[in-house]
Amino acid sequence: MRRRLAAGNWKMNGTGAALSEIESLALKHPSPSVDILICPPATLLHRAAVAAESTGIAIGGQDCHGESFGAHTGDVSAEMLTDTGATAVILGHSERRVDHGEQNEDVRAKARTAMDAGLKAIICVGESLEQRDAANTLDIIGGQLSGSIPDQSTGENLIVAYEPIWAIGTGKVPTLEEIGEVHDFIRARLERRFGEGVGRSVRLLYGGSVKPSNATEIFGVSNVDGALVGGASLKAEDFSGIIQALE
Ligand code: PEP
Repeated sequence: MRRRLAAGNWKMNGTGAALSEIESLALKHPSPSVDILICPPATLLHRAAVAAESTGIAIGGQDCHGESFGAHTGDVSAEMLTDTGATAVILGHSERRVDHGEQNEDVRAKARTAMDAGLKAIICVGESLEQRDAANTLDIIGGQLSGSIPDQSTGENLIVAYEPIWAIGTGKVPTLEEIGEVHDFIRARLERRFGEGVGRSVRLLYGGSVKPSNATEIFGVSNVDGALVGGASLKAEDFSGIIQALE
């Protein structure tokens, strides 16, 4: 049985004042029946982990370097994330793939170091609108899955997030059929590569303009085990509505 997961990606938003959102969320969900993860900016990770201590909320990073340590000014290693109290990390988000030119092999290296450090890697995949319009969605996702996911993946250390690029922060959401088609495809690819046991145990998240108002129907789609949420994770009230839809 896969435990459902609501993961919030704060992106480059939030200073110390935003930690009160974690406290509010914990008050709204004192003993959650689903996993809750907040991924604040790196500057807030340790304080967020302290704020979330003894709550049902876990804390995660938004990226890590593909090497464990060394001369990489400004970067953060997987071990540094664990040192803050983080237990997961988002990798290969489309904003990193676009803004920082991250390729599948970079994401795979990052996922390897993250898993070696004991973190859960949330690996993001997703097509652009041009790729969808050209009927290339499944080819693109298939390439991202085989290129970005390391061999050491298990149901414990890997989570895959399907995030169509054109749905992120736009208010546009694919049809439930489109979401289902891609999630079924990802599940089948994972089963083929890792075997049924592991393939079936990896959690698959949908991401892209999830809100309290559309969450229930999206969570009803087969193989959707939760959501990776951007904008609607910034305020406890909105994110709580999504968590309730998952519970
Ligand atoms: C995201 O960036 O991961 C995301 C899904 O953003 P939003 O929910 O704002 O579309």
